[in-house]
Amino acid sequence: MPVLQAPRAWLPQGWAGDVRIEIDDQGWITEVAPGTPDRGAQTMVGAVVPGMANLHSHAFQRAMAGLTERAAGPSEDFWSWRGTMHRFAAALVPDQVEAIAAQLYVEMVKAGYTGVAEFHYLHHGPAGRRYEDMAELSLRVVAAARRVGLAITHLPVLYQRDGFTSGPPSEGPLARFASSPDEVLQICGAVAAAHAGDPDVAVGLAIHSLRAVPKAAMDDALAGLPALNPSAPVHIHVAEQVREVEDCVATLGARPVAWLLDHAEVDGRWCLVHATHMDAEEVARMAATGAVAGLCPTTEANLGDGLFALPEYLAAGGAFGIGSDSHISVDPLEELRLLEYGQRLVHRRRAVAAGDLEPSTGLRLFAGAVEGGAQALGRRSGHIAPGYRADLVVLDPLAPPIVDQPDHHLFDALVFSGGGRRVRDVMVGGRWVVRDGHHREERQILNAYREAVAGLIVAA
Ligand SMILES: [Zn+2]
Repeated sequence: MPVLQAPRAWLPQGWAGDVRIEIDDQGWITEVAPGTPDRGAQTMVGAVVPGMANLHSHAFQRAMAGLTERAAGPSEDFWSWRGTMHRFAAALVPDQVEAIAAQLYVEMVKAGYTGVAEFHYLHHGPAGRRYEDMAELSLRVVAAARRVGLAITHLPVLYQRDGFTSGPPSEGPLARFASSPDEVLQICGAVAAAHAGDPDVAVGLAIHSLRAVPKAAMDDALAGLPALNPSAPVHIHVAEQVREVEDCVATLGARPVAWLLDHAEVDGRWCLVHATHMDAEEVARMAATGAVAGLCPTTEANLGDGLFALPEYLAAGGAFGIGSDSHISVDPLEELRLLEYGQRLVHRRRAVAAGDLEPSTGLRLFAGAVEGGAQALGRRSGHIAPGYRADLVVLDPLAPPIVDQPDHHLFDALVFSGGGRRVRDVMVGGRWVVRDGHHREERQILNAYREAVAGLIVAA
């Protein structure tokens, strides 16, 4: 049972000095005592903050970073990118999926992410052939997370069609994604059973999007979920693209967020990923549900999605978290910085996320994302307090922009000083997974990744 000593730590009541943190054998924080020097404890050398949850990930896409930035035609957009992604996914075999995920997850923990929600839709073999164990690829991805030591909320995805008026795919890459509600629930059950008793593995459900899932199938999957876990997280991509909004209005008669709120019992278990295109009424309604907005600023910028209505949503009390989604960046601080900078560029003012209650933009963004991210993962994390998982990040005490910063500037210096190492050590569920900037298996995992993707990069 480790006892840790932090020179300063960010607790629910704010920064505190000489903090003793006790953790039990299962990785839960049992006691936090500020102002308590303890010479017998294991000393953490920098300021300690809660670990960040990464609430939206498609792990295999990490191996595509840099492969989709060349213009093949006069008008590249989300839809042309998606075509490349589908071709890329078509070729992957289980060993590659696992090797890519492990490499990505090493990068995540080194950047200060302590948990991930994996929105996993690559279920089947080529042409939709079922693996002998239908949960094969889900189990590979979860195994990668556990090898690395990252906490994971696995979200098998229900996917049935390419667009609002498409039929089920019978061949091609999309057949690898397509499943019945029963099959997806079976995969959920298989992952939960394989990792029963591990507090760092959770299972939820994802609905790919309104365009990819008809209402009847969504209802069936949601109806079957409580048998697995009545408080399981539910995630959905929604209103990411203008064309998706237009198609939704044309076929379902309402904008996607409005339609979803009218046809599903959206509450605090839900994470609405992107929610980029909302009108004022949708913003207010969504904020009132208690659901988390799953914002992925670097991916949304990379894909040209559009800009989330952050000031209006925060003013309405909405919860949010961040995800690295397509993994063109694996850095929570870059996500937070870009979230704010996008708003500054459009509104032509500064400190957009800050408000009357919290004047520090960096603190407002970090604290909001830590809390909303933990909620979206369904994980007792995000606070250094008794009853929470010991998910801790020790900031690098030698990083020039943050060293010696006074408490009230530390989060601002952390978020708004890009470049260089900020994270020194990372603990997930009471276990050190990064020490002095390194993961103990990073070399082997990188070698396996390089071998796995060598052929893929040429093929793309
Ligand atoms: Zn996504």
